[in-house]
Amino acid sequence: MTILPQARTEALLTEALAERGVTVERGVGVADVDQDETSVTAALTDGSVARAAILFAADGAHSTVRKALDLDFPGDRWSEPWRLLDVELDGAPPDEGWVDLRPDGPLLCLPFAGGVFRLITFGADPLAHLPDGWTAGKVHWTSEFRVSHRLAERMAVGRVCLGGDAAHIHSPMGARGMNLGVEDAFVFAACAADFLNGETGRLADYGRLRREDDGAVVRRVKAATDALRRSGPLADAVRGLLIPFAARIPAVVDQIVRTGMGLDHPVRVR
Ligand SMILES: Cc1cc2nc3c(=O)[nH]c(=O)nc-3n(C[C@H](O)[C@H](O)[C@H](O)COP(=O)(O)OP(=O)(O)OC[C@H]3O[C@@H](n4cnc5c(N)ncnc54)[C@H](O)[C@@H]3O)c2cc1C
Repeated sequence: MTILPQARTEALLTEALAERGVTVERGVGVADVDQDETSVTAALTDGSVARAAILFAADGAHSTVRKALDLDFPGDRWSEPWRLLDVELDGAPPDEGWVDLRPDGPLLCLPFAGGVFRLITFGADPLAHLPDGWTAGKVHWTSEFRVSHRLAERMAVGRVCLGGDAAHIHSPMGARGMNLGVEDAFVFAACAADFLNGETGRLADYGRLRREDDGAVVRRVKAATDALRRSGPLADAVRGLLIPFAARIPAVVDQIVRTGMGLDHPVRVR
């Protein structure tokens, strides 16, 4: 198993843009957006104004553009804190993802390069409850977050489209968030090219196609995460018997891997 940390993915994408002559400008944000029949105008935080035929907003979960469009971002927020740790571990499998379905919350362990592993849990302190034979070394980074599941009420309004976390957020179980945003960008590129060539309905197509596909992923990830956080005898039986049994069935494992890789649905551009 190879895990590419998101910072590395972002560096690769930035390099790919540079090869195409595009420089990423940092430190300047969109403060407001407006649009008319022919263009979009963005007021920037440095006081300048940018004008373009169309706008793709991937400005994160607290999206300024989504708010400027007055779009709802309905969903829920779970109260339990999730912990993240990047830590050196001796004894953990160096090339496998690993999950312990504990009653107080699953512990997920993913190998990064150089003997560093990412631990994710909403249960007890993972370092205090490492599996037998594992020893923790230097902790490189820790963080804490709370999980929400939300989907924007629309992903296209006129000439402005939303993508990535600006349009959908869900638990990291399944490792889909960033990849789903990359899918949005891919479909937007296809639709935007057609729109600029005169197919005026194509941005609306983007909004419809992605909202259906992103919404389905958000619902699936939420259901899967919820199954792992439930308590009670039935949930214990599912975790203790059903999931370990299912994990021995190759077709089930294949489906889980395909889901994690985002290969569980076709990427529709029409
Ligand atoms: C713990 C955790 C683990 C995860 N693991 C995975 C994983 O394994 N695989 C995976 O695919 N995904 C994963 N994700 C999800 C992934 O991190 C996000 O889905 C992804 O970062 C979203 O990218 P984005 O560009 O849409 O938004 P962001 O990453 O939030 O980026 C938004 C960008 O917009 C900028 N911005 C904000 N406001 C403005 C503005 N007004 N004007 C201009 N720019 C603005 C911000 O500075 C930022 O650079 C994980 C998330 C969490 C929390």
